[in-house]
Amino acid sequence: MIDLLKSKKIAAFLFAVIAAFSLNAQTAENSEPVDAGNSHIIVNGDLSIHFPELGNKYTGDCVYINYGDIDIIIDAGSKQASAAVIKTYIDNYIQDGKLEYVIATHAHEDHIAGFNSKGNITGILEAYEVGTIIDFPKTNSNTATCRNYIKTRNKIIENGAVHYTALQCYRNEDGAMRIYDLGGGVQLEILYNYYYENYAKSENNYSVCVRINQNGSYFLFTGDLEQDGEEKLVEYYQDNYGGLGNCMLYKGGHHGSNSSSSEKFMSQIKPEYVIICTCAGSSEYRAAPRNIFPSQGFVDRVAPYTDKIYITTIAPDYAKNIFMPLNGNIIFMVSQGNISILCSGDNTVLKDTQWFRDNRIMPAEWQ
Ligand SMILES: [Zn+2]
Repeated sequence: MIDLLKSKKIAAFLFAVIAAFSLNAQTAENSEPVDAGNSHIIVNGDLSIHFPELGNKYTGDCVYINYGDIDIIIDAGSKQASAAVIKTYIDNYIQDGKLEYVIATHAHEDHIAGFNSKGNITGILEAYEVGTIIDFPKTNSNTATCRNYIKTRNKIIENGAVHYTALQCYRNEDGAMRIYDLGGGVQLEILYNYYYENYAKSENNYSVCVRINQNGSYFLFTGDLEQDGEEKLVEYYQDNYGGLGNCMLYKGGHHGSNSSSSEKFMSQIKPEYVIICTCAGSSEYRAAPRNIFPSQGFVDRVAPYTDKIYITTIAPDYAKNIFMPLNGNIIFMVSQGNISILCSGDNTVLKDTQWFRDNRIMPAEWQ
């Protein structure tokens, strides 16, 4: 009886969310964000790209993509305990217990920790059946987290998962594919990165770069690729493909760091929407106020192209371990050519937040 009541409540709630979304889809032309005003949102649409919160004050990446029966996860940061938070979130969507594609961009903890199992925590790689796992061809890392990741990955390969490096994918070698056709005009494409096969001083430059293509639009994920890697990416695609073209959605590179989202890269992809997995105001990696994520440099270089920037989490007081949703869990939805952004927290764009007013200088383009 209680279950019935519960499922009725869920159905009513889902209906309200879908109704709100449908209204938006009919009235907005391709751009207006929707705030469902709920702390928890579940949507089922044609293609949805999710940026879940990670349950702590730390910076880390996790992107979950749902397209019909296909489930894709790119990274599982930020800490091992995030695995449980991510699982709770993606269990709202995964029907068959299977992740068709798993991508691990590079060997840093804030991208792979949640893949691993440890103690009584089951990591994402073992919590689901994994179809194909694609990861970084190179690393300089020898951390316990990285060793544990490789051990866990090898275990799931033994149990039937298919493993390729991003370089094998890009080269269409050994059964790996550059483009995985997901049906209905949607593709998962593994991009080329110079550092798949060359030494990089910064681990970040080894990041696997992918995009989801949908009927001429694309959504871009470059992990923590740094300026140097971004510039090589731009040059390679200009030389070999006539350029990357304009990007509908860009996952803000390296959590909004000053060392990524370079001018050359932004002028090439001209992002329309930017969503960042980060904890605004967290001094975990950068001490200088202007370089704390999302950095002033990131803001200044993105500003000529868009002010539609969304951020998962905020740490109002990092030292006291206080963190909370900024936009919260963010869902970028594409349904019948219409785009909606649903946030479990506030749906305010970065420039209109109090944190931005207190910590950043408004670029001329946004005034
Ligand atoms: Zn990172």
